[in-house]
This record gives sequence, structure tokens and C-alpha cells, in this order.
Amino acid sequence: MKGLVLKSTGSWYVVRKEDGGLLRARLRGKFKTKGLKLSNPVAVGDHVTLELEGEEGTAVITEIAPRTNHIIRKSIHKTAHAHIIASNIDLAFLVVTLVSPRTSFGFIDRFLVTAEAYHIPVTLLFNKIDLYDEDTLQYQERVRQMYRQIGYESVACSAAEGIGIEEIQQLLDQKVTLFSGHSGVGKSTLVNTLVPDLDLKTTEISAYSDKGVHTTTFAEMFEIGENTFLIDTPGIKELGVVDIPKPELSHYFPEMRDLLQSCRFNNCLHLNEPGCAVREAVDAGKISLTRYDSYRSILEDEDNRR
Ligand code: GDP
Ligand code: ZN
Repeated sequence: MKGLVLKSTGSWYVVRKEDGGLLRARLRGKFKTKGLKLSNPVAVGDHVTLELEGEEGTAVITEIAPRTNHIIRKSIHKTAHAHIIASNIDLAFLVVTLVSPRTSFGFIDRFLVTAEAYHIPVTLLFNKIDLYDEDTLQYQERVRQMYRQIGYESVACSAAEGIGIEEIQQLLDQKVTLFSGHSGVGKSTLVNTLVPDLDLKTTEISAYSDKGVHTTTFAEMFEIGENTFLIDTPGIKELGVVDIPKPELSHYFPEMRDLLQSCRFNNCLHLNEPGCAVREAVDAGKISLTRYDSYRSILEDEDNRR
């Protein structure tokens, strides 16, 4: 039997069967995870093979289908295992706002870099446009244009006034979509507007968590239409950290990627090296200074993490 993992509590999983019904499932024995040391071999979004158990409609997960992508959360302790948050994500929406609160470019660009590294396409949702004055609306156009030029589509929306909602609905149709954004940008309001009847308790199956064991839910997947799923990651503001070696960081900036062959040094970090094609593009206005600043700032983070 095949199924799709909607929720994990650590020891139990809520799995959607192909007929749409839900099952409680667990793992049997040791699961081998390649490469990364993982604290959880099965993640929300995994397609799994199941064997029914005798007792009360529970099942055992015997196999995990190969993932198209996955996002992880790494423990701050270097030796600890990483935790897979979700897998097989078709699209990530990053909800941002230019006012109340203002999302920083640093935050947006870090998210985009991480999503590039994870191979997850991102669409930016500029929310709360009902609050924008003329100047802010014009500024928004320039910001959206900057991202459009490097390949990131965006939608201007207002969860409060129902603007842009249909467009967002079309974008997520038939996909597994991850919703992100730092708190206060209106992510919950937006989700409620998109899926008014979404009962956040729908996948609760009574008493499936082991009594007395404190477990944290990192992600949960909701079926919001035919073949259409939404992943919510409560408490997770960022996409997690990917270790990107410094010379590779520019590979995750789409506007820099094509220039890299033209730098004089093949280990160019695009800072002060002579013959740097990226710096030339910044000086010529072909790469935005905002994005280049984010690039440098992320490079510095890498310094601090070492
Ligand atoms: P979250 O932390 O991202 O989930 O944000 P919430 O959905 O809780 O929204 C934060 C605040 O912004 C709440 O007071 C919402 O009513 C408000 N809000 C959300 N969307 C909009 C919007 O489109 N326009 C305006 N004016 N306020 C909004
Ligand atoms: Zn360079």
C-alpha cells in the first residue's frame, strides 16, 4: 500500500492513503539514511510504502520513495543529527511586507539562496498592499522588478482585503507548496483567506503521540484541494541552514551564475579580486547593489559560523 506522510510526531506518522483516508503509521527497526546523520528518517511529504498491522488500522512504513528535494533543520550542536522538516516540495511562497513590519532584503535573499540550494522554486508574496501609499507602491514595483529580472516571480496581495488571492490559488493548484515568512507578515491570515475551511486540526488522530513523550511538530501538510497540498512549518521562520562553501555561494545567485566563468580567478569570491566579472556587473548596474550586499553579508555569516 502507498501513502503520503502528512505529519510526524517523532515516533508516529499520520499517513494519507491513496483513497484519501488517514492511517497511523510507525517505523519498524532501523532505517538507513544515506549521507546526513538524521534524527528522523521519514519526513512530512514523503511518499512511503506501508504494510497494514493487525491492530486497529495502524501500519508500518517499510520504504521511502526517493525525494525530489527536502529541507532540513540542523542542530546548533555540530555533532547532533539534522532533522528533515519536509520533502518533495514543488513551490515555496515567501510572504514579505514592505511596511508593518518591513522584511529585510537580507532575510529575503537568505531564503532565496537556501531555496536555490534545496532546488525549490520560490514565489514572493508582497502582502498588506492595502497599507501602501503611492510611494510605497512605486517602491514595491521596483523591488518586484528587481526580483523578476533574476527569475523570481511575485504577487502583490492583501490577505485583509482579498486582493491577489485568486492568482495565488492558481499558482498553488496541483502542487505541494511550502508557506514561509517571518512573523507578523500575515502568513496565517493569508492561509485562512486562501483556505477558509482549513481546519488546522484535520489531521489530528486522537492519542497518536506516545503519552508523556514531548514531541515537537516541525511541519504539517494539509490537503487543500485535489492533488493540492500546503505545508506549514510553525515556528520555523527560515528555511534552515545549508552549508555552502564560500566559493560556491555565488552559484545560488541566479544573476551571478552565468558570469562566474568570466572571473579571472576560478576561486574568486567577488570581493576585491582583480578581473572579477561579478564586480564589473555590479558597477555597470547589471547586478543590483541590494543583491550584492546580501551576497557579501551571507559570506560574512559563513565566516562567523566557522
Ligand atoms: P503571521 O505571524 O505571519 O502569521 O501574521 P498574522 O496572520 O498573524 O498577521 C499579523 C497581523 O497583520 C494581524 O494583525 C493581521 O490582521 C494583519 N494582516 C495580515 N494580513 C494583512 C493585510 O493584508 N493587510 C493588513 N492591513 N493587515 C494584515
Ligand atoms: Zn569574481
